[in-house]
Amino acid sequence: MRNLREHLTETRARLSPQKRVLLTGKAYSGMIQQYRAATGRALLLDYDGTLVSFADEPKLAQPDAELIETLTALGADPANQLAIISGRPRQTLEEWFGKLPISLIAEHGVWLRNKNADWRMLKTMTAEWKERVRPILQLYVDRLPGALLEEKEFSLAWHYRQADPEQASQRAKELIGDLAGYTRNIDVQVFEGNKVIEIRNSGVNKGTAGLEWLKQYAPDFILGIGDDWTDEDLFRALPPAAFSVRVGLASTAARYYLSGPVTVRKMLNELCQGPREKTVNLVPNL
Ligand SMILES: [Mg+2]
Repeated sequence: MRNLREHLTETRARLSPQKRVLLTGKAYSGMIQQYRAATGRALLLDYDGTLVSFADEPKLAQPDAELIETLTALGADPANQLAIISGRPRQTLEEWFGKLPISLIAEHGVWLRNKNADWRMLKTMTAEWKERVRPILQLYVDRLPGALLEEKEFSLAWHYRQADPEQASQRAKELIGDLAGYTRNIDVQVFEGNKVIEIRNSGVNKGTAGLEWLKQYAPDFILGIGDDWTDEDLFRALPPAAFSVRVGLASTAARYYLSGPVTVRKMLNELCQGPREKTVNLVPNL
């Protein structure tokens, strides 16, 4: 097994072209200062892997009371606009966060529900293709113990978090190959996420949805946080002065990174606590 030093060297090499900065020390206190000084703020937060750790099954990763309290406090601040921007179906976001003073963006940008408003689609979409693609995914659910199929309104996802990793990575490659043939002539895209392969309509992503939501406001402070490649669309779409934060170690277009949901939540808690004499120093949890 590789030792930690080798692991860190390899990780640094991977990260070096991006020159990412860990959101700690001066970078962190600078961000906190700008947050406090701002009169209008927009916060875009991914959910899974960002605010909570991944669970074996998507439905098990429910928000805990402490998280609900933090999001409520942030959303209730009259200077703040807060959106959860997630790949989750809108029904799940509604069930978990529907009563909070925040906006919700579901299915990676298909649906937007402004604070105190109804859900609306950000782009007209079709779902007929699901009939064609579902049997293929079902076949791969049958072929891999532990895999499961998640159906959303305009996307299908094949999850393999609970499957044997080696077998799963082989099956995932085969599935992507199969899907390439089936989806060639339909307006969908195949995406590989964290232990998931997802098929959804083209032209929808967190970047376009995030900007659509942001344009309603004129914030002088923007914070966007996310943990996987779907959040990269958001990081790229945000204005350069925005604080974009990638959770975990990976190549990214974000300006900063944090180690995991624990450090993200510490930071959000500090934001809603008001000024204090000393800021918390976030230590990476590698
Ligand atoms: Mg995520």
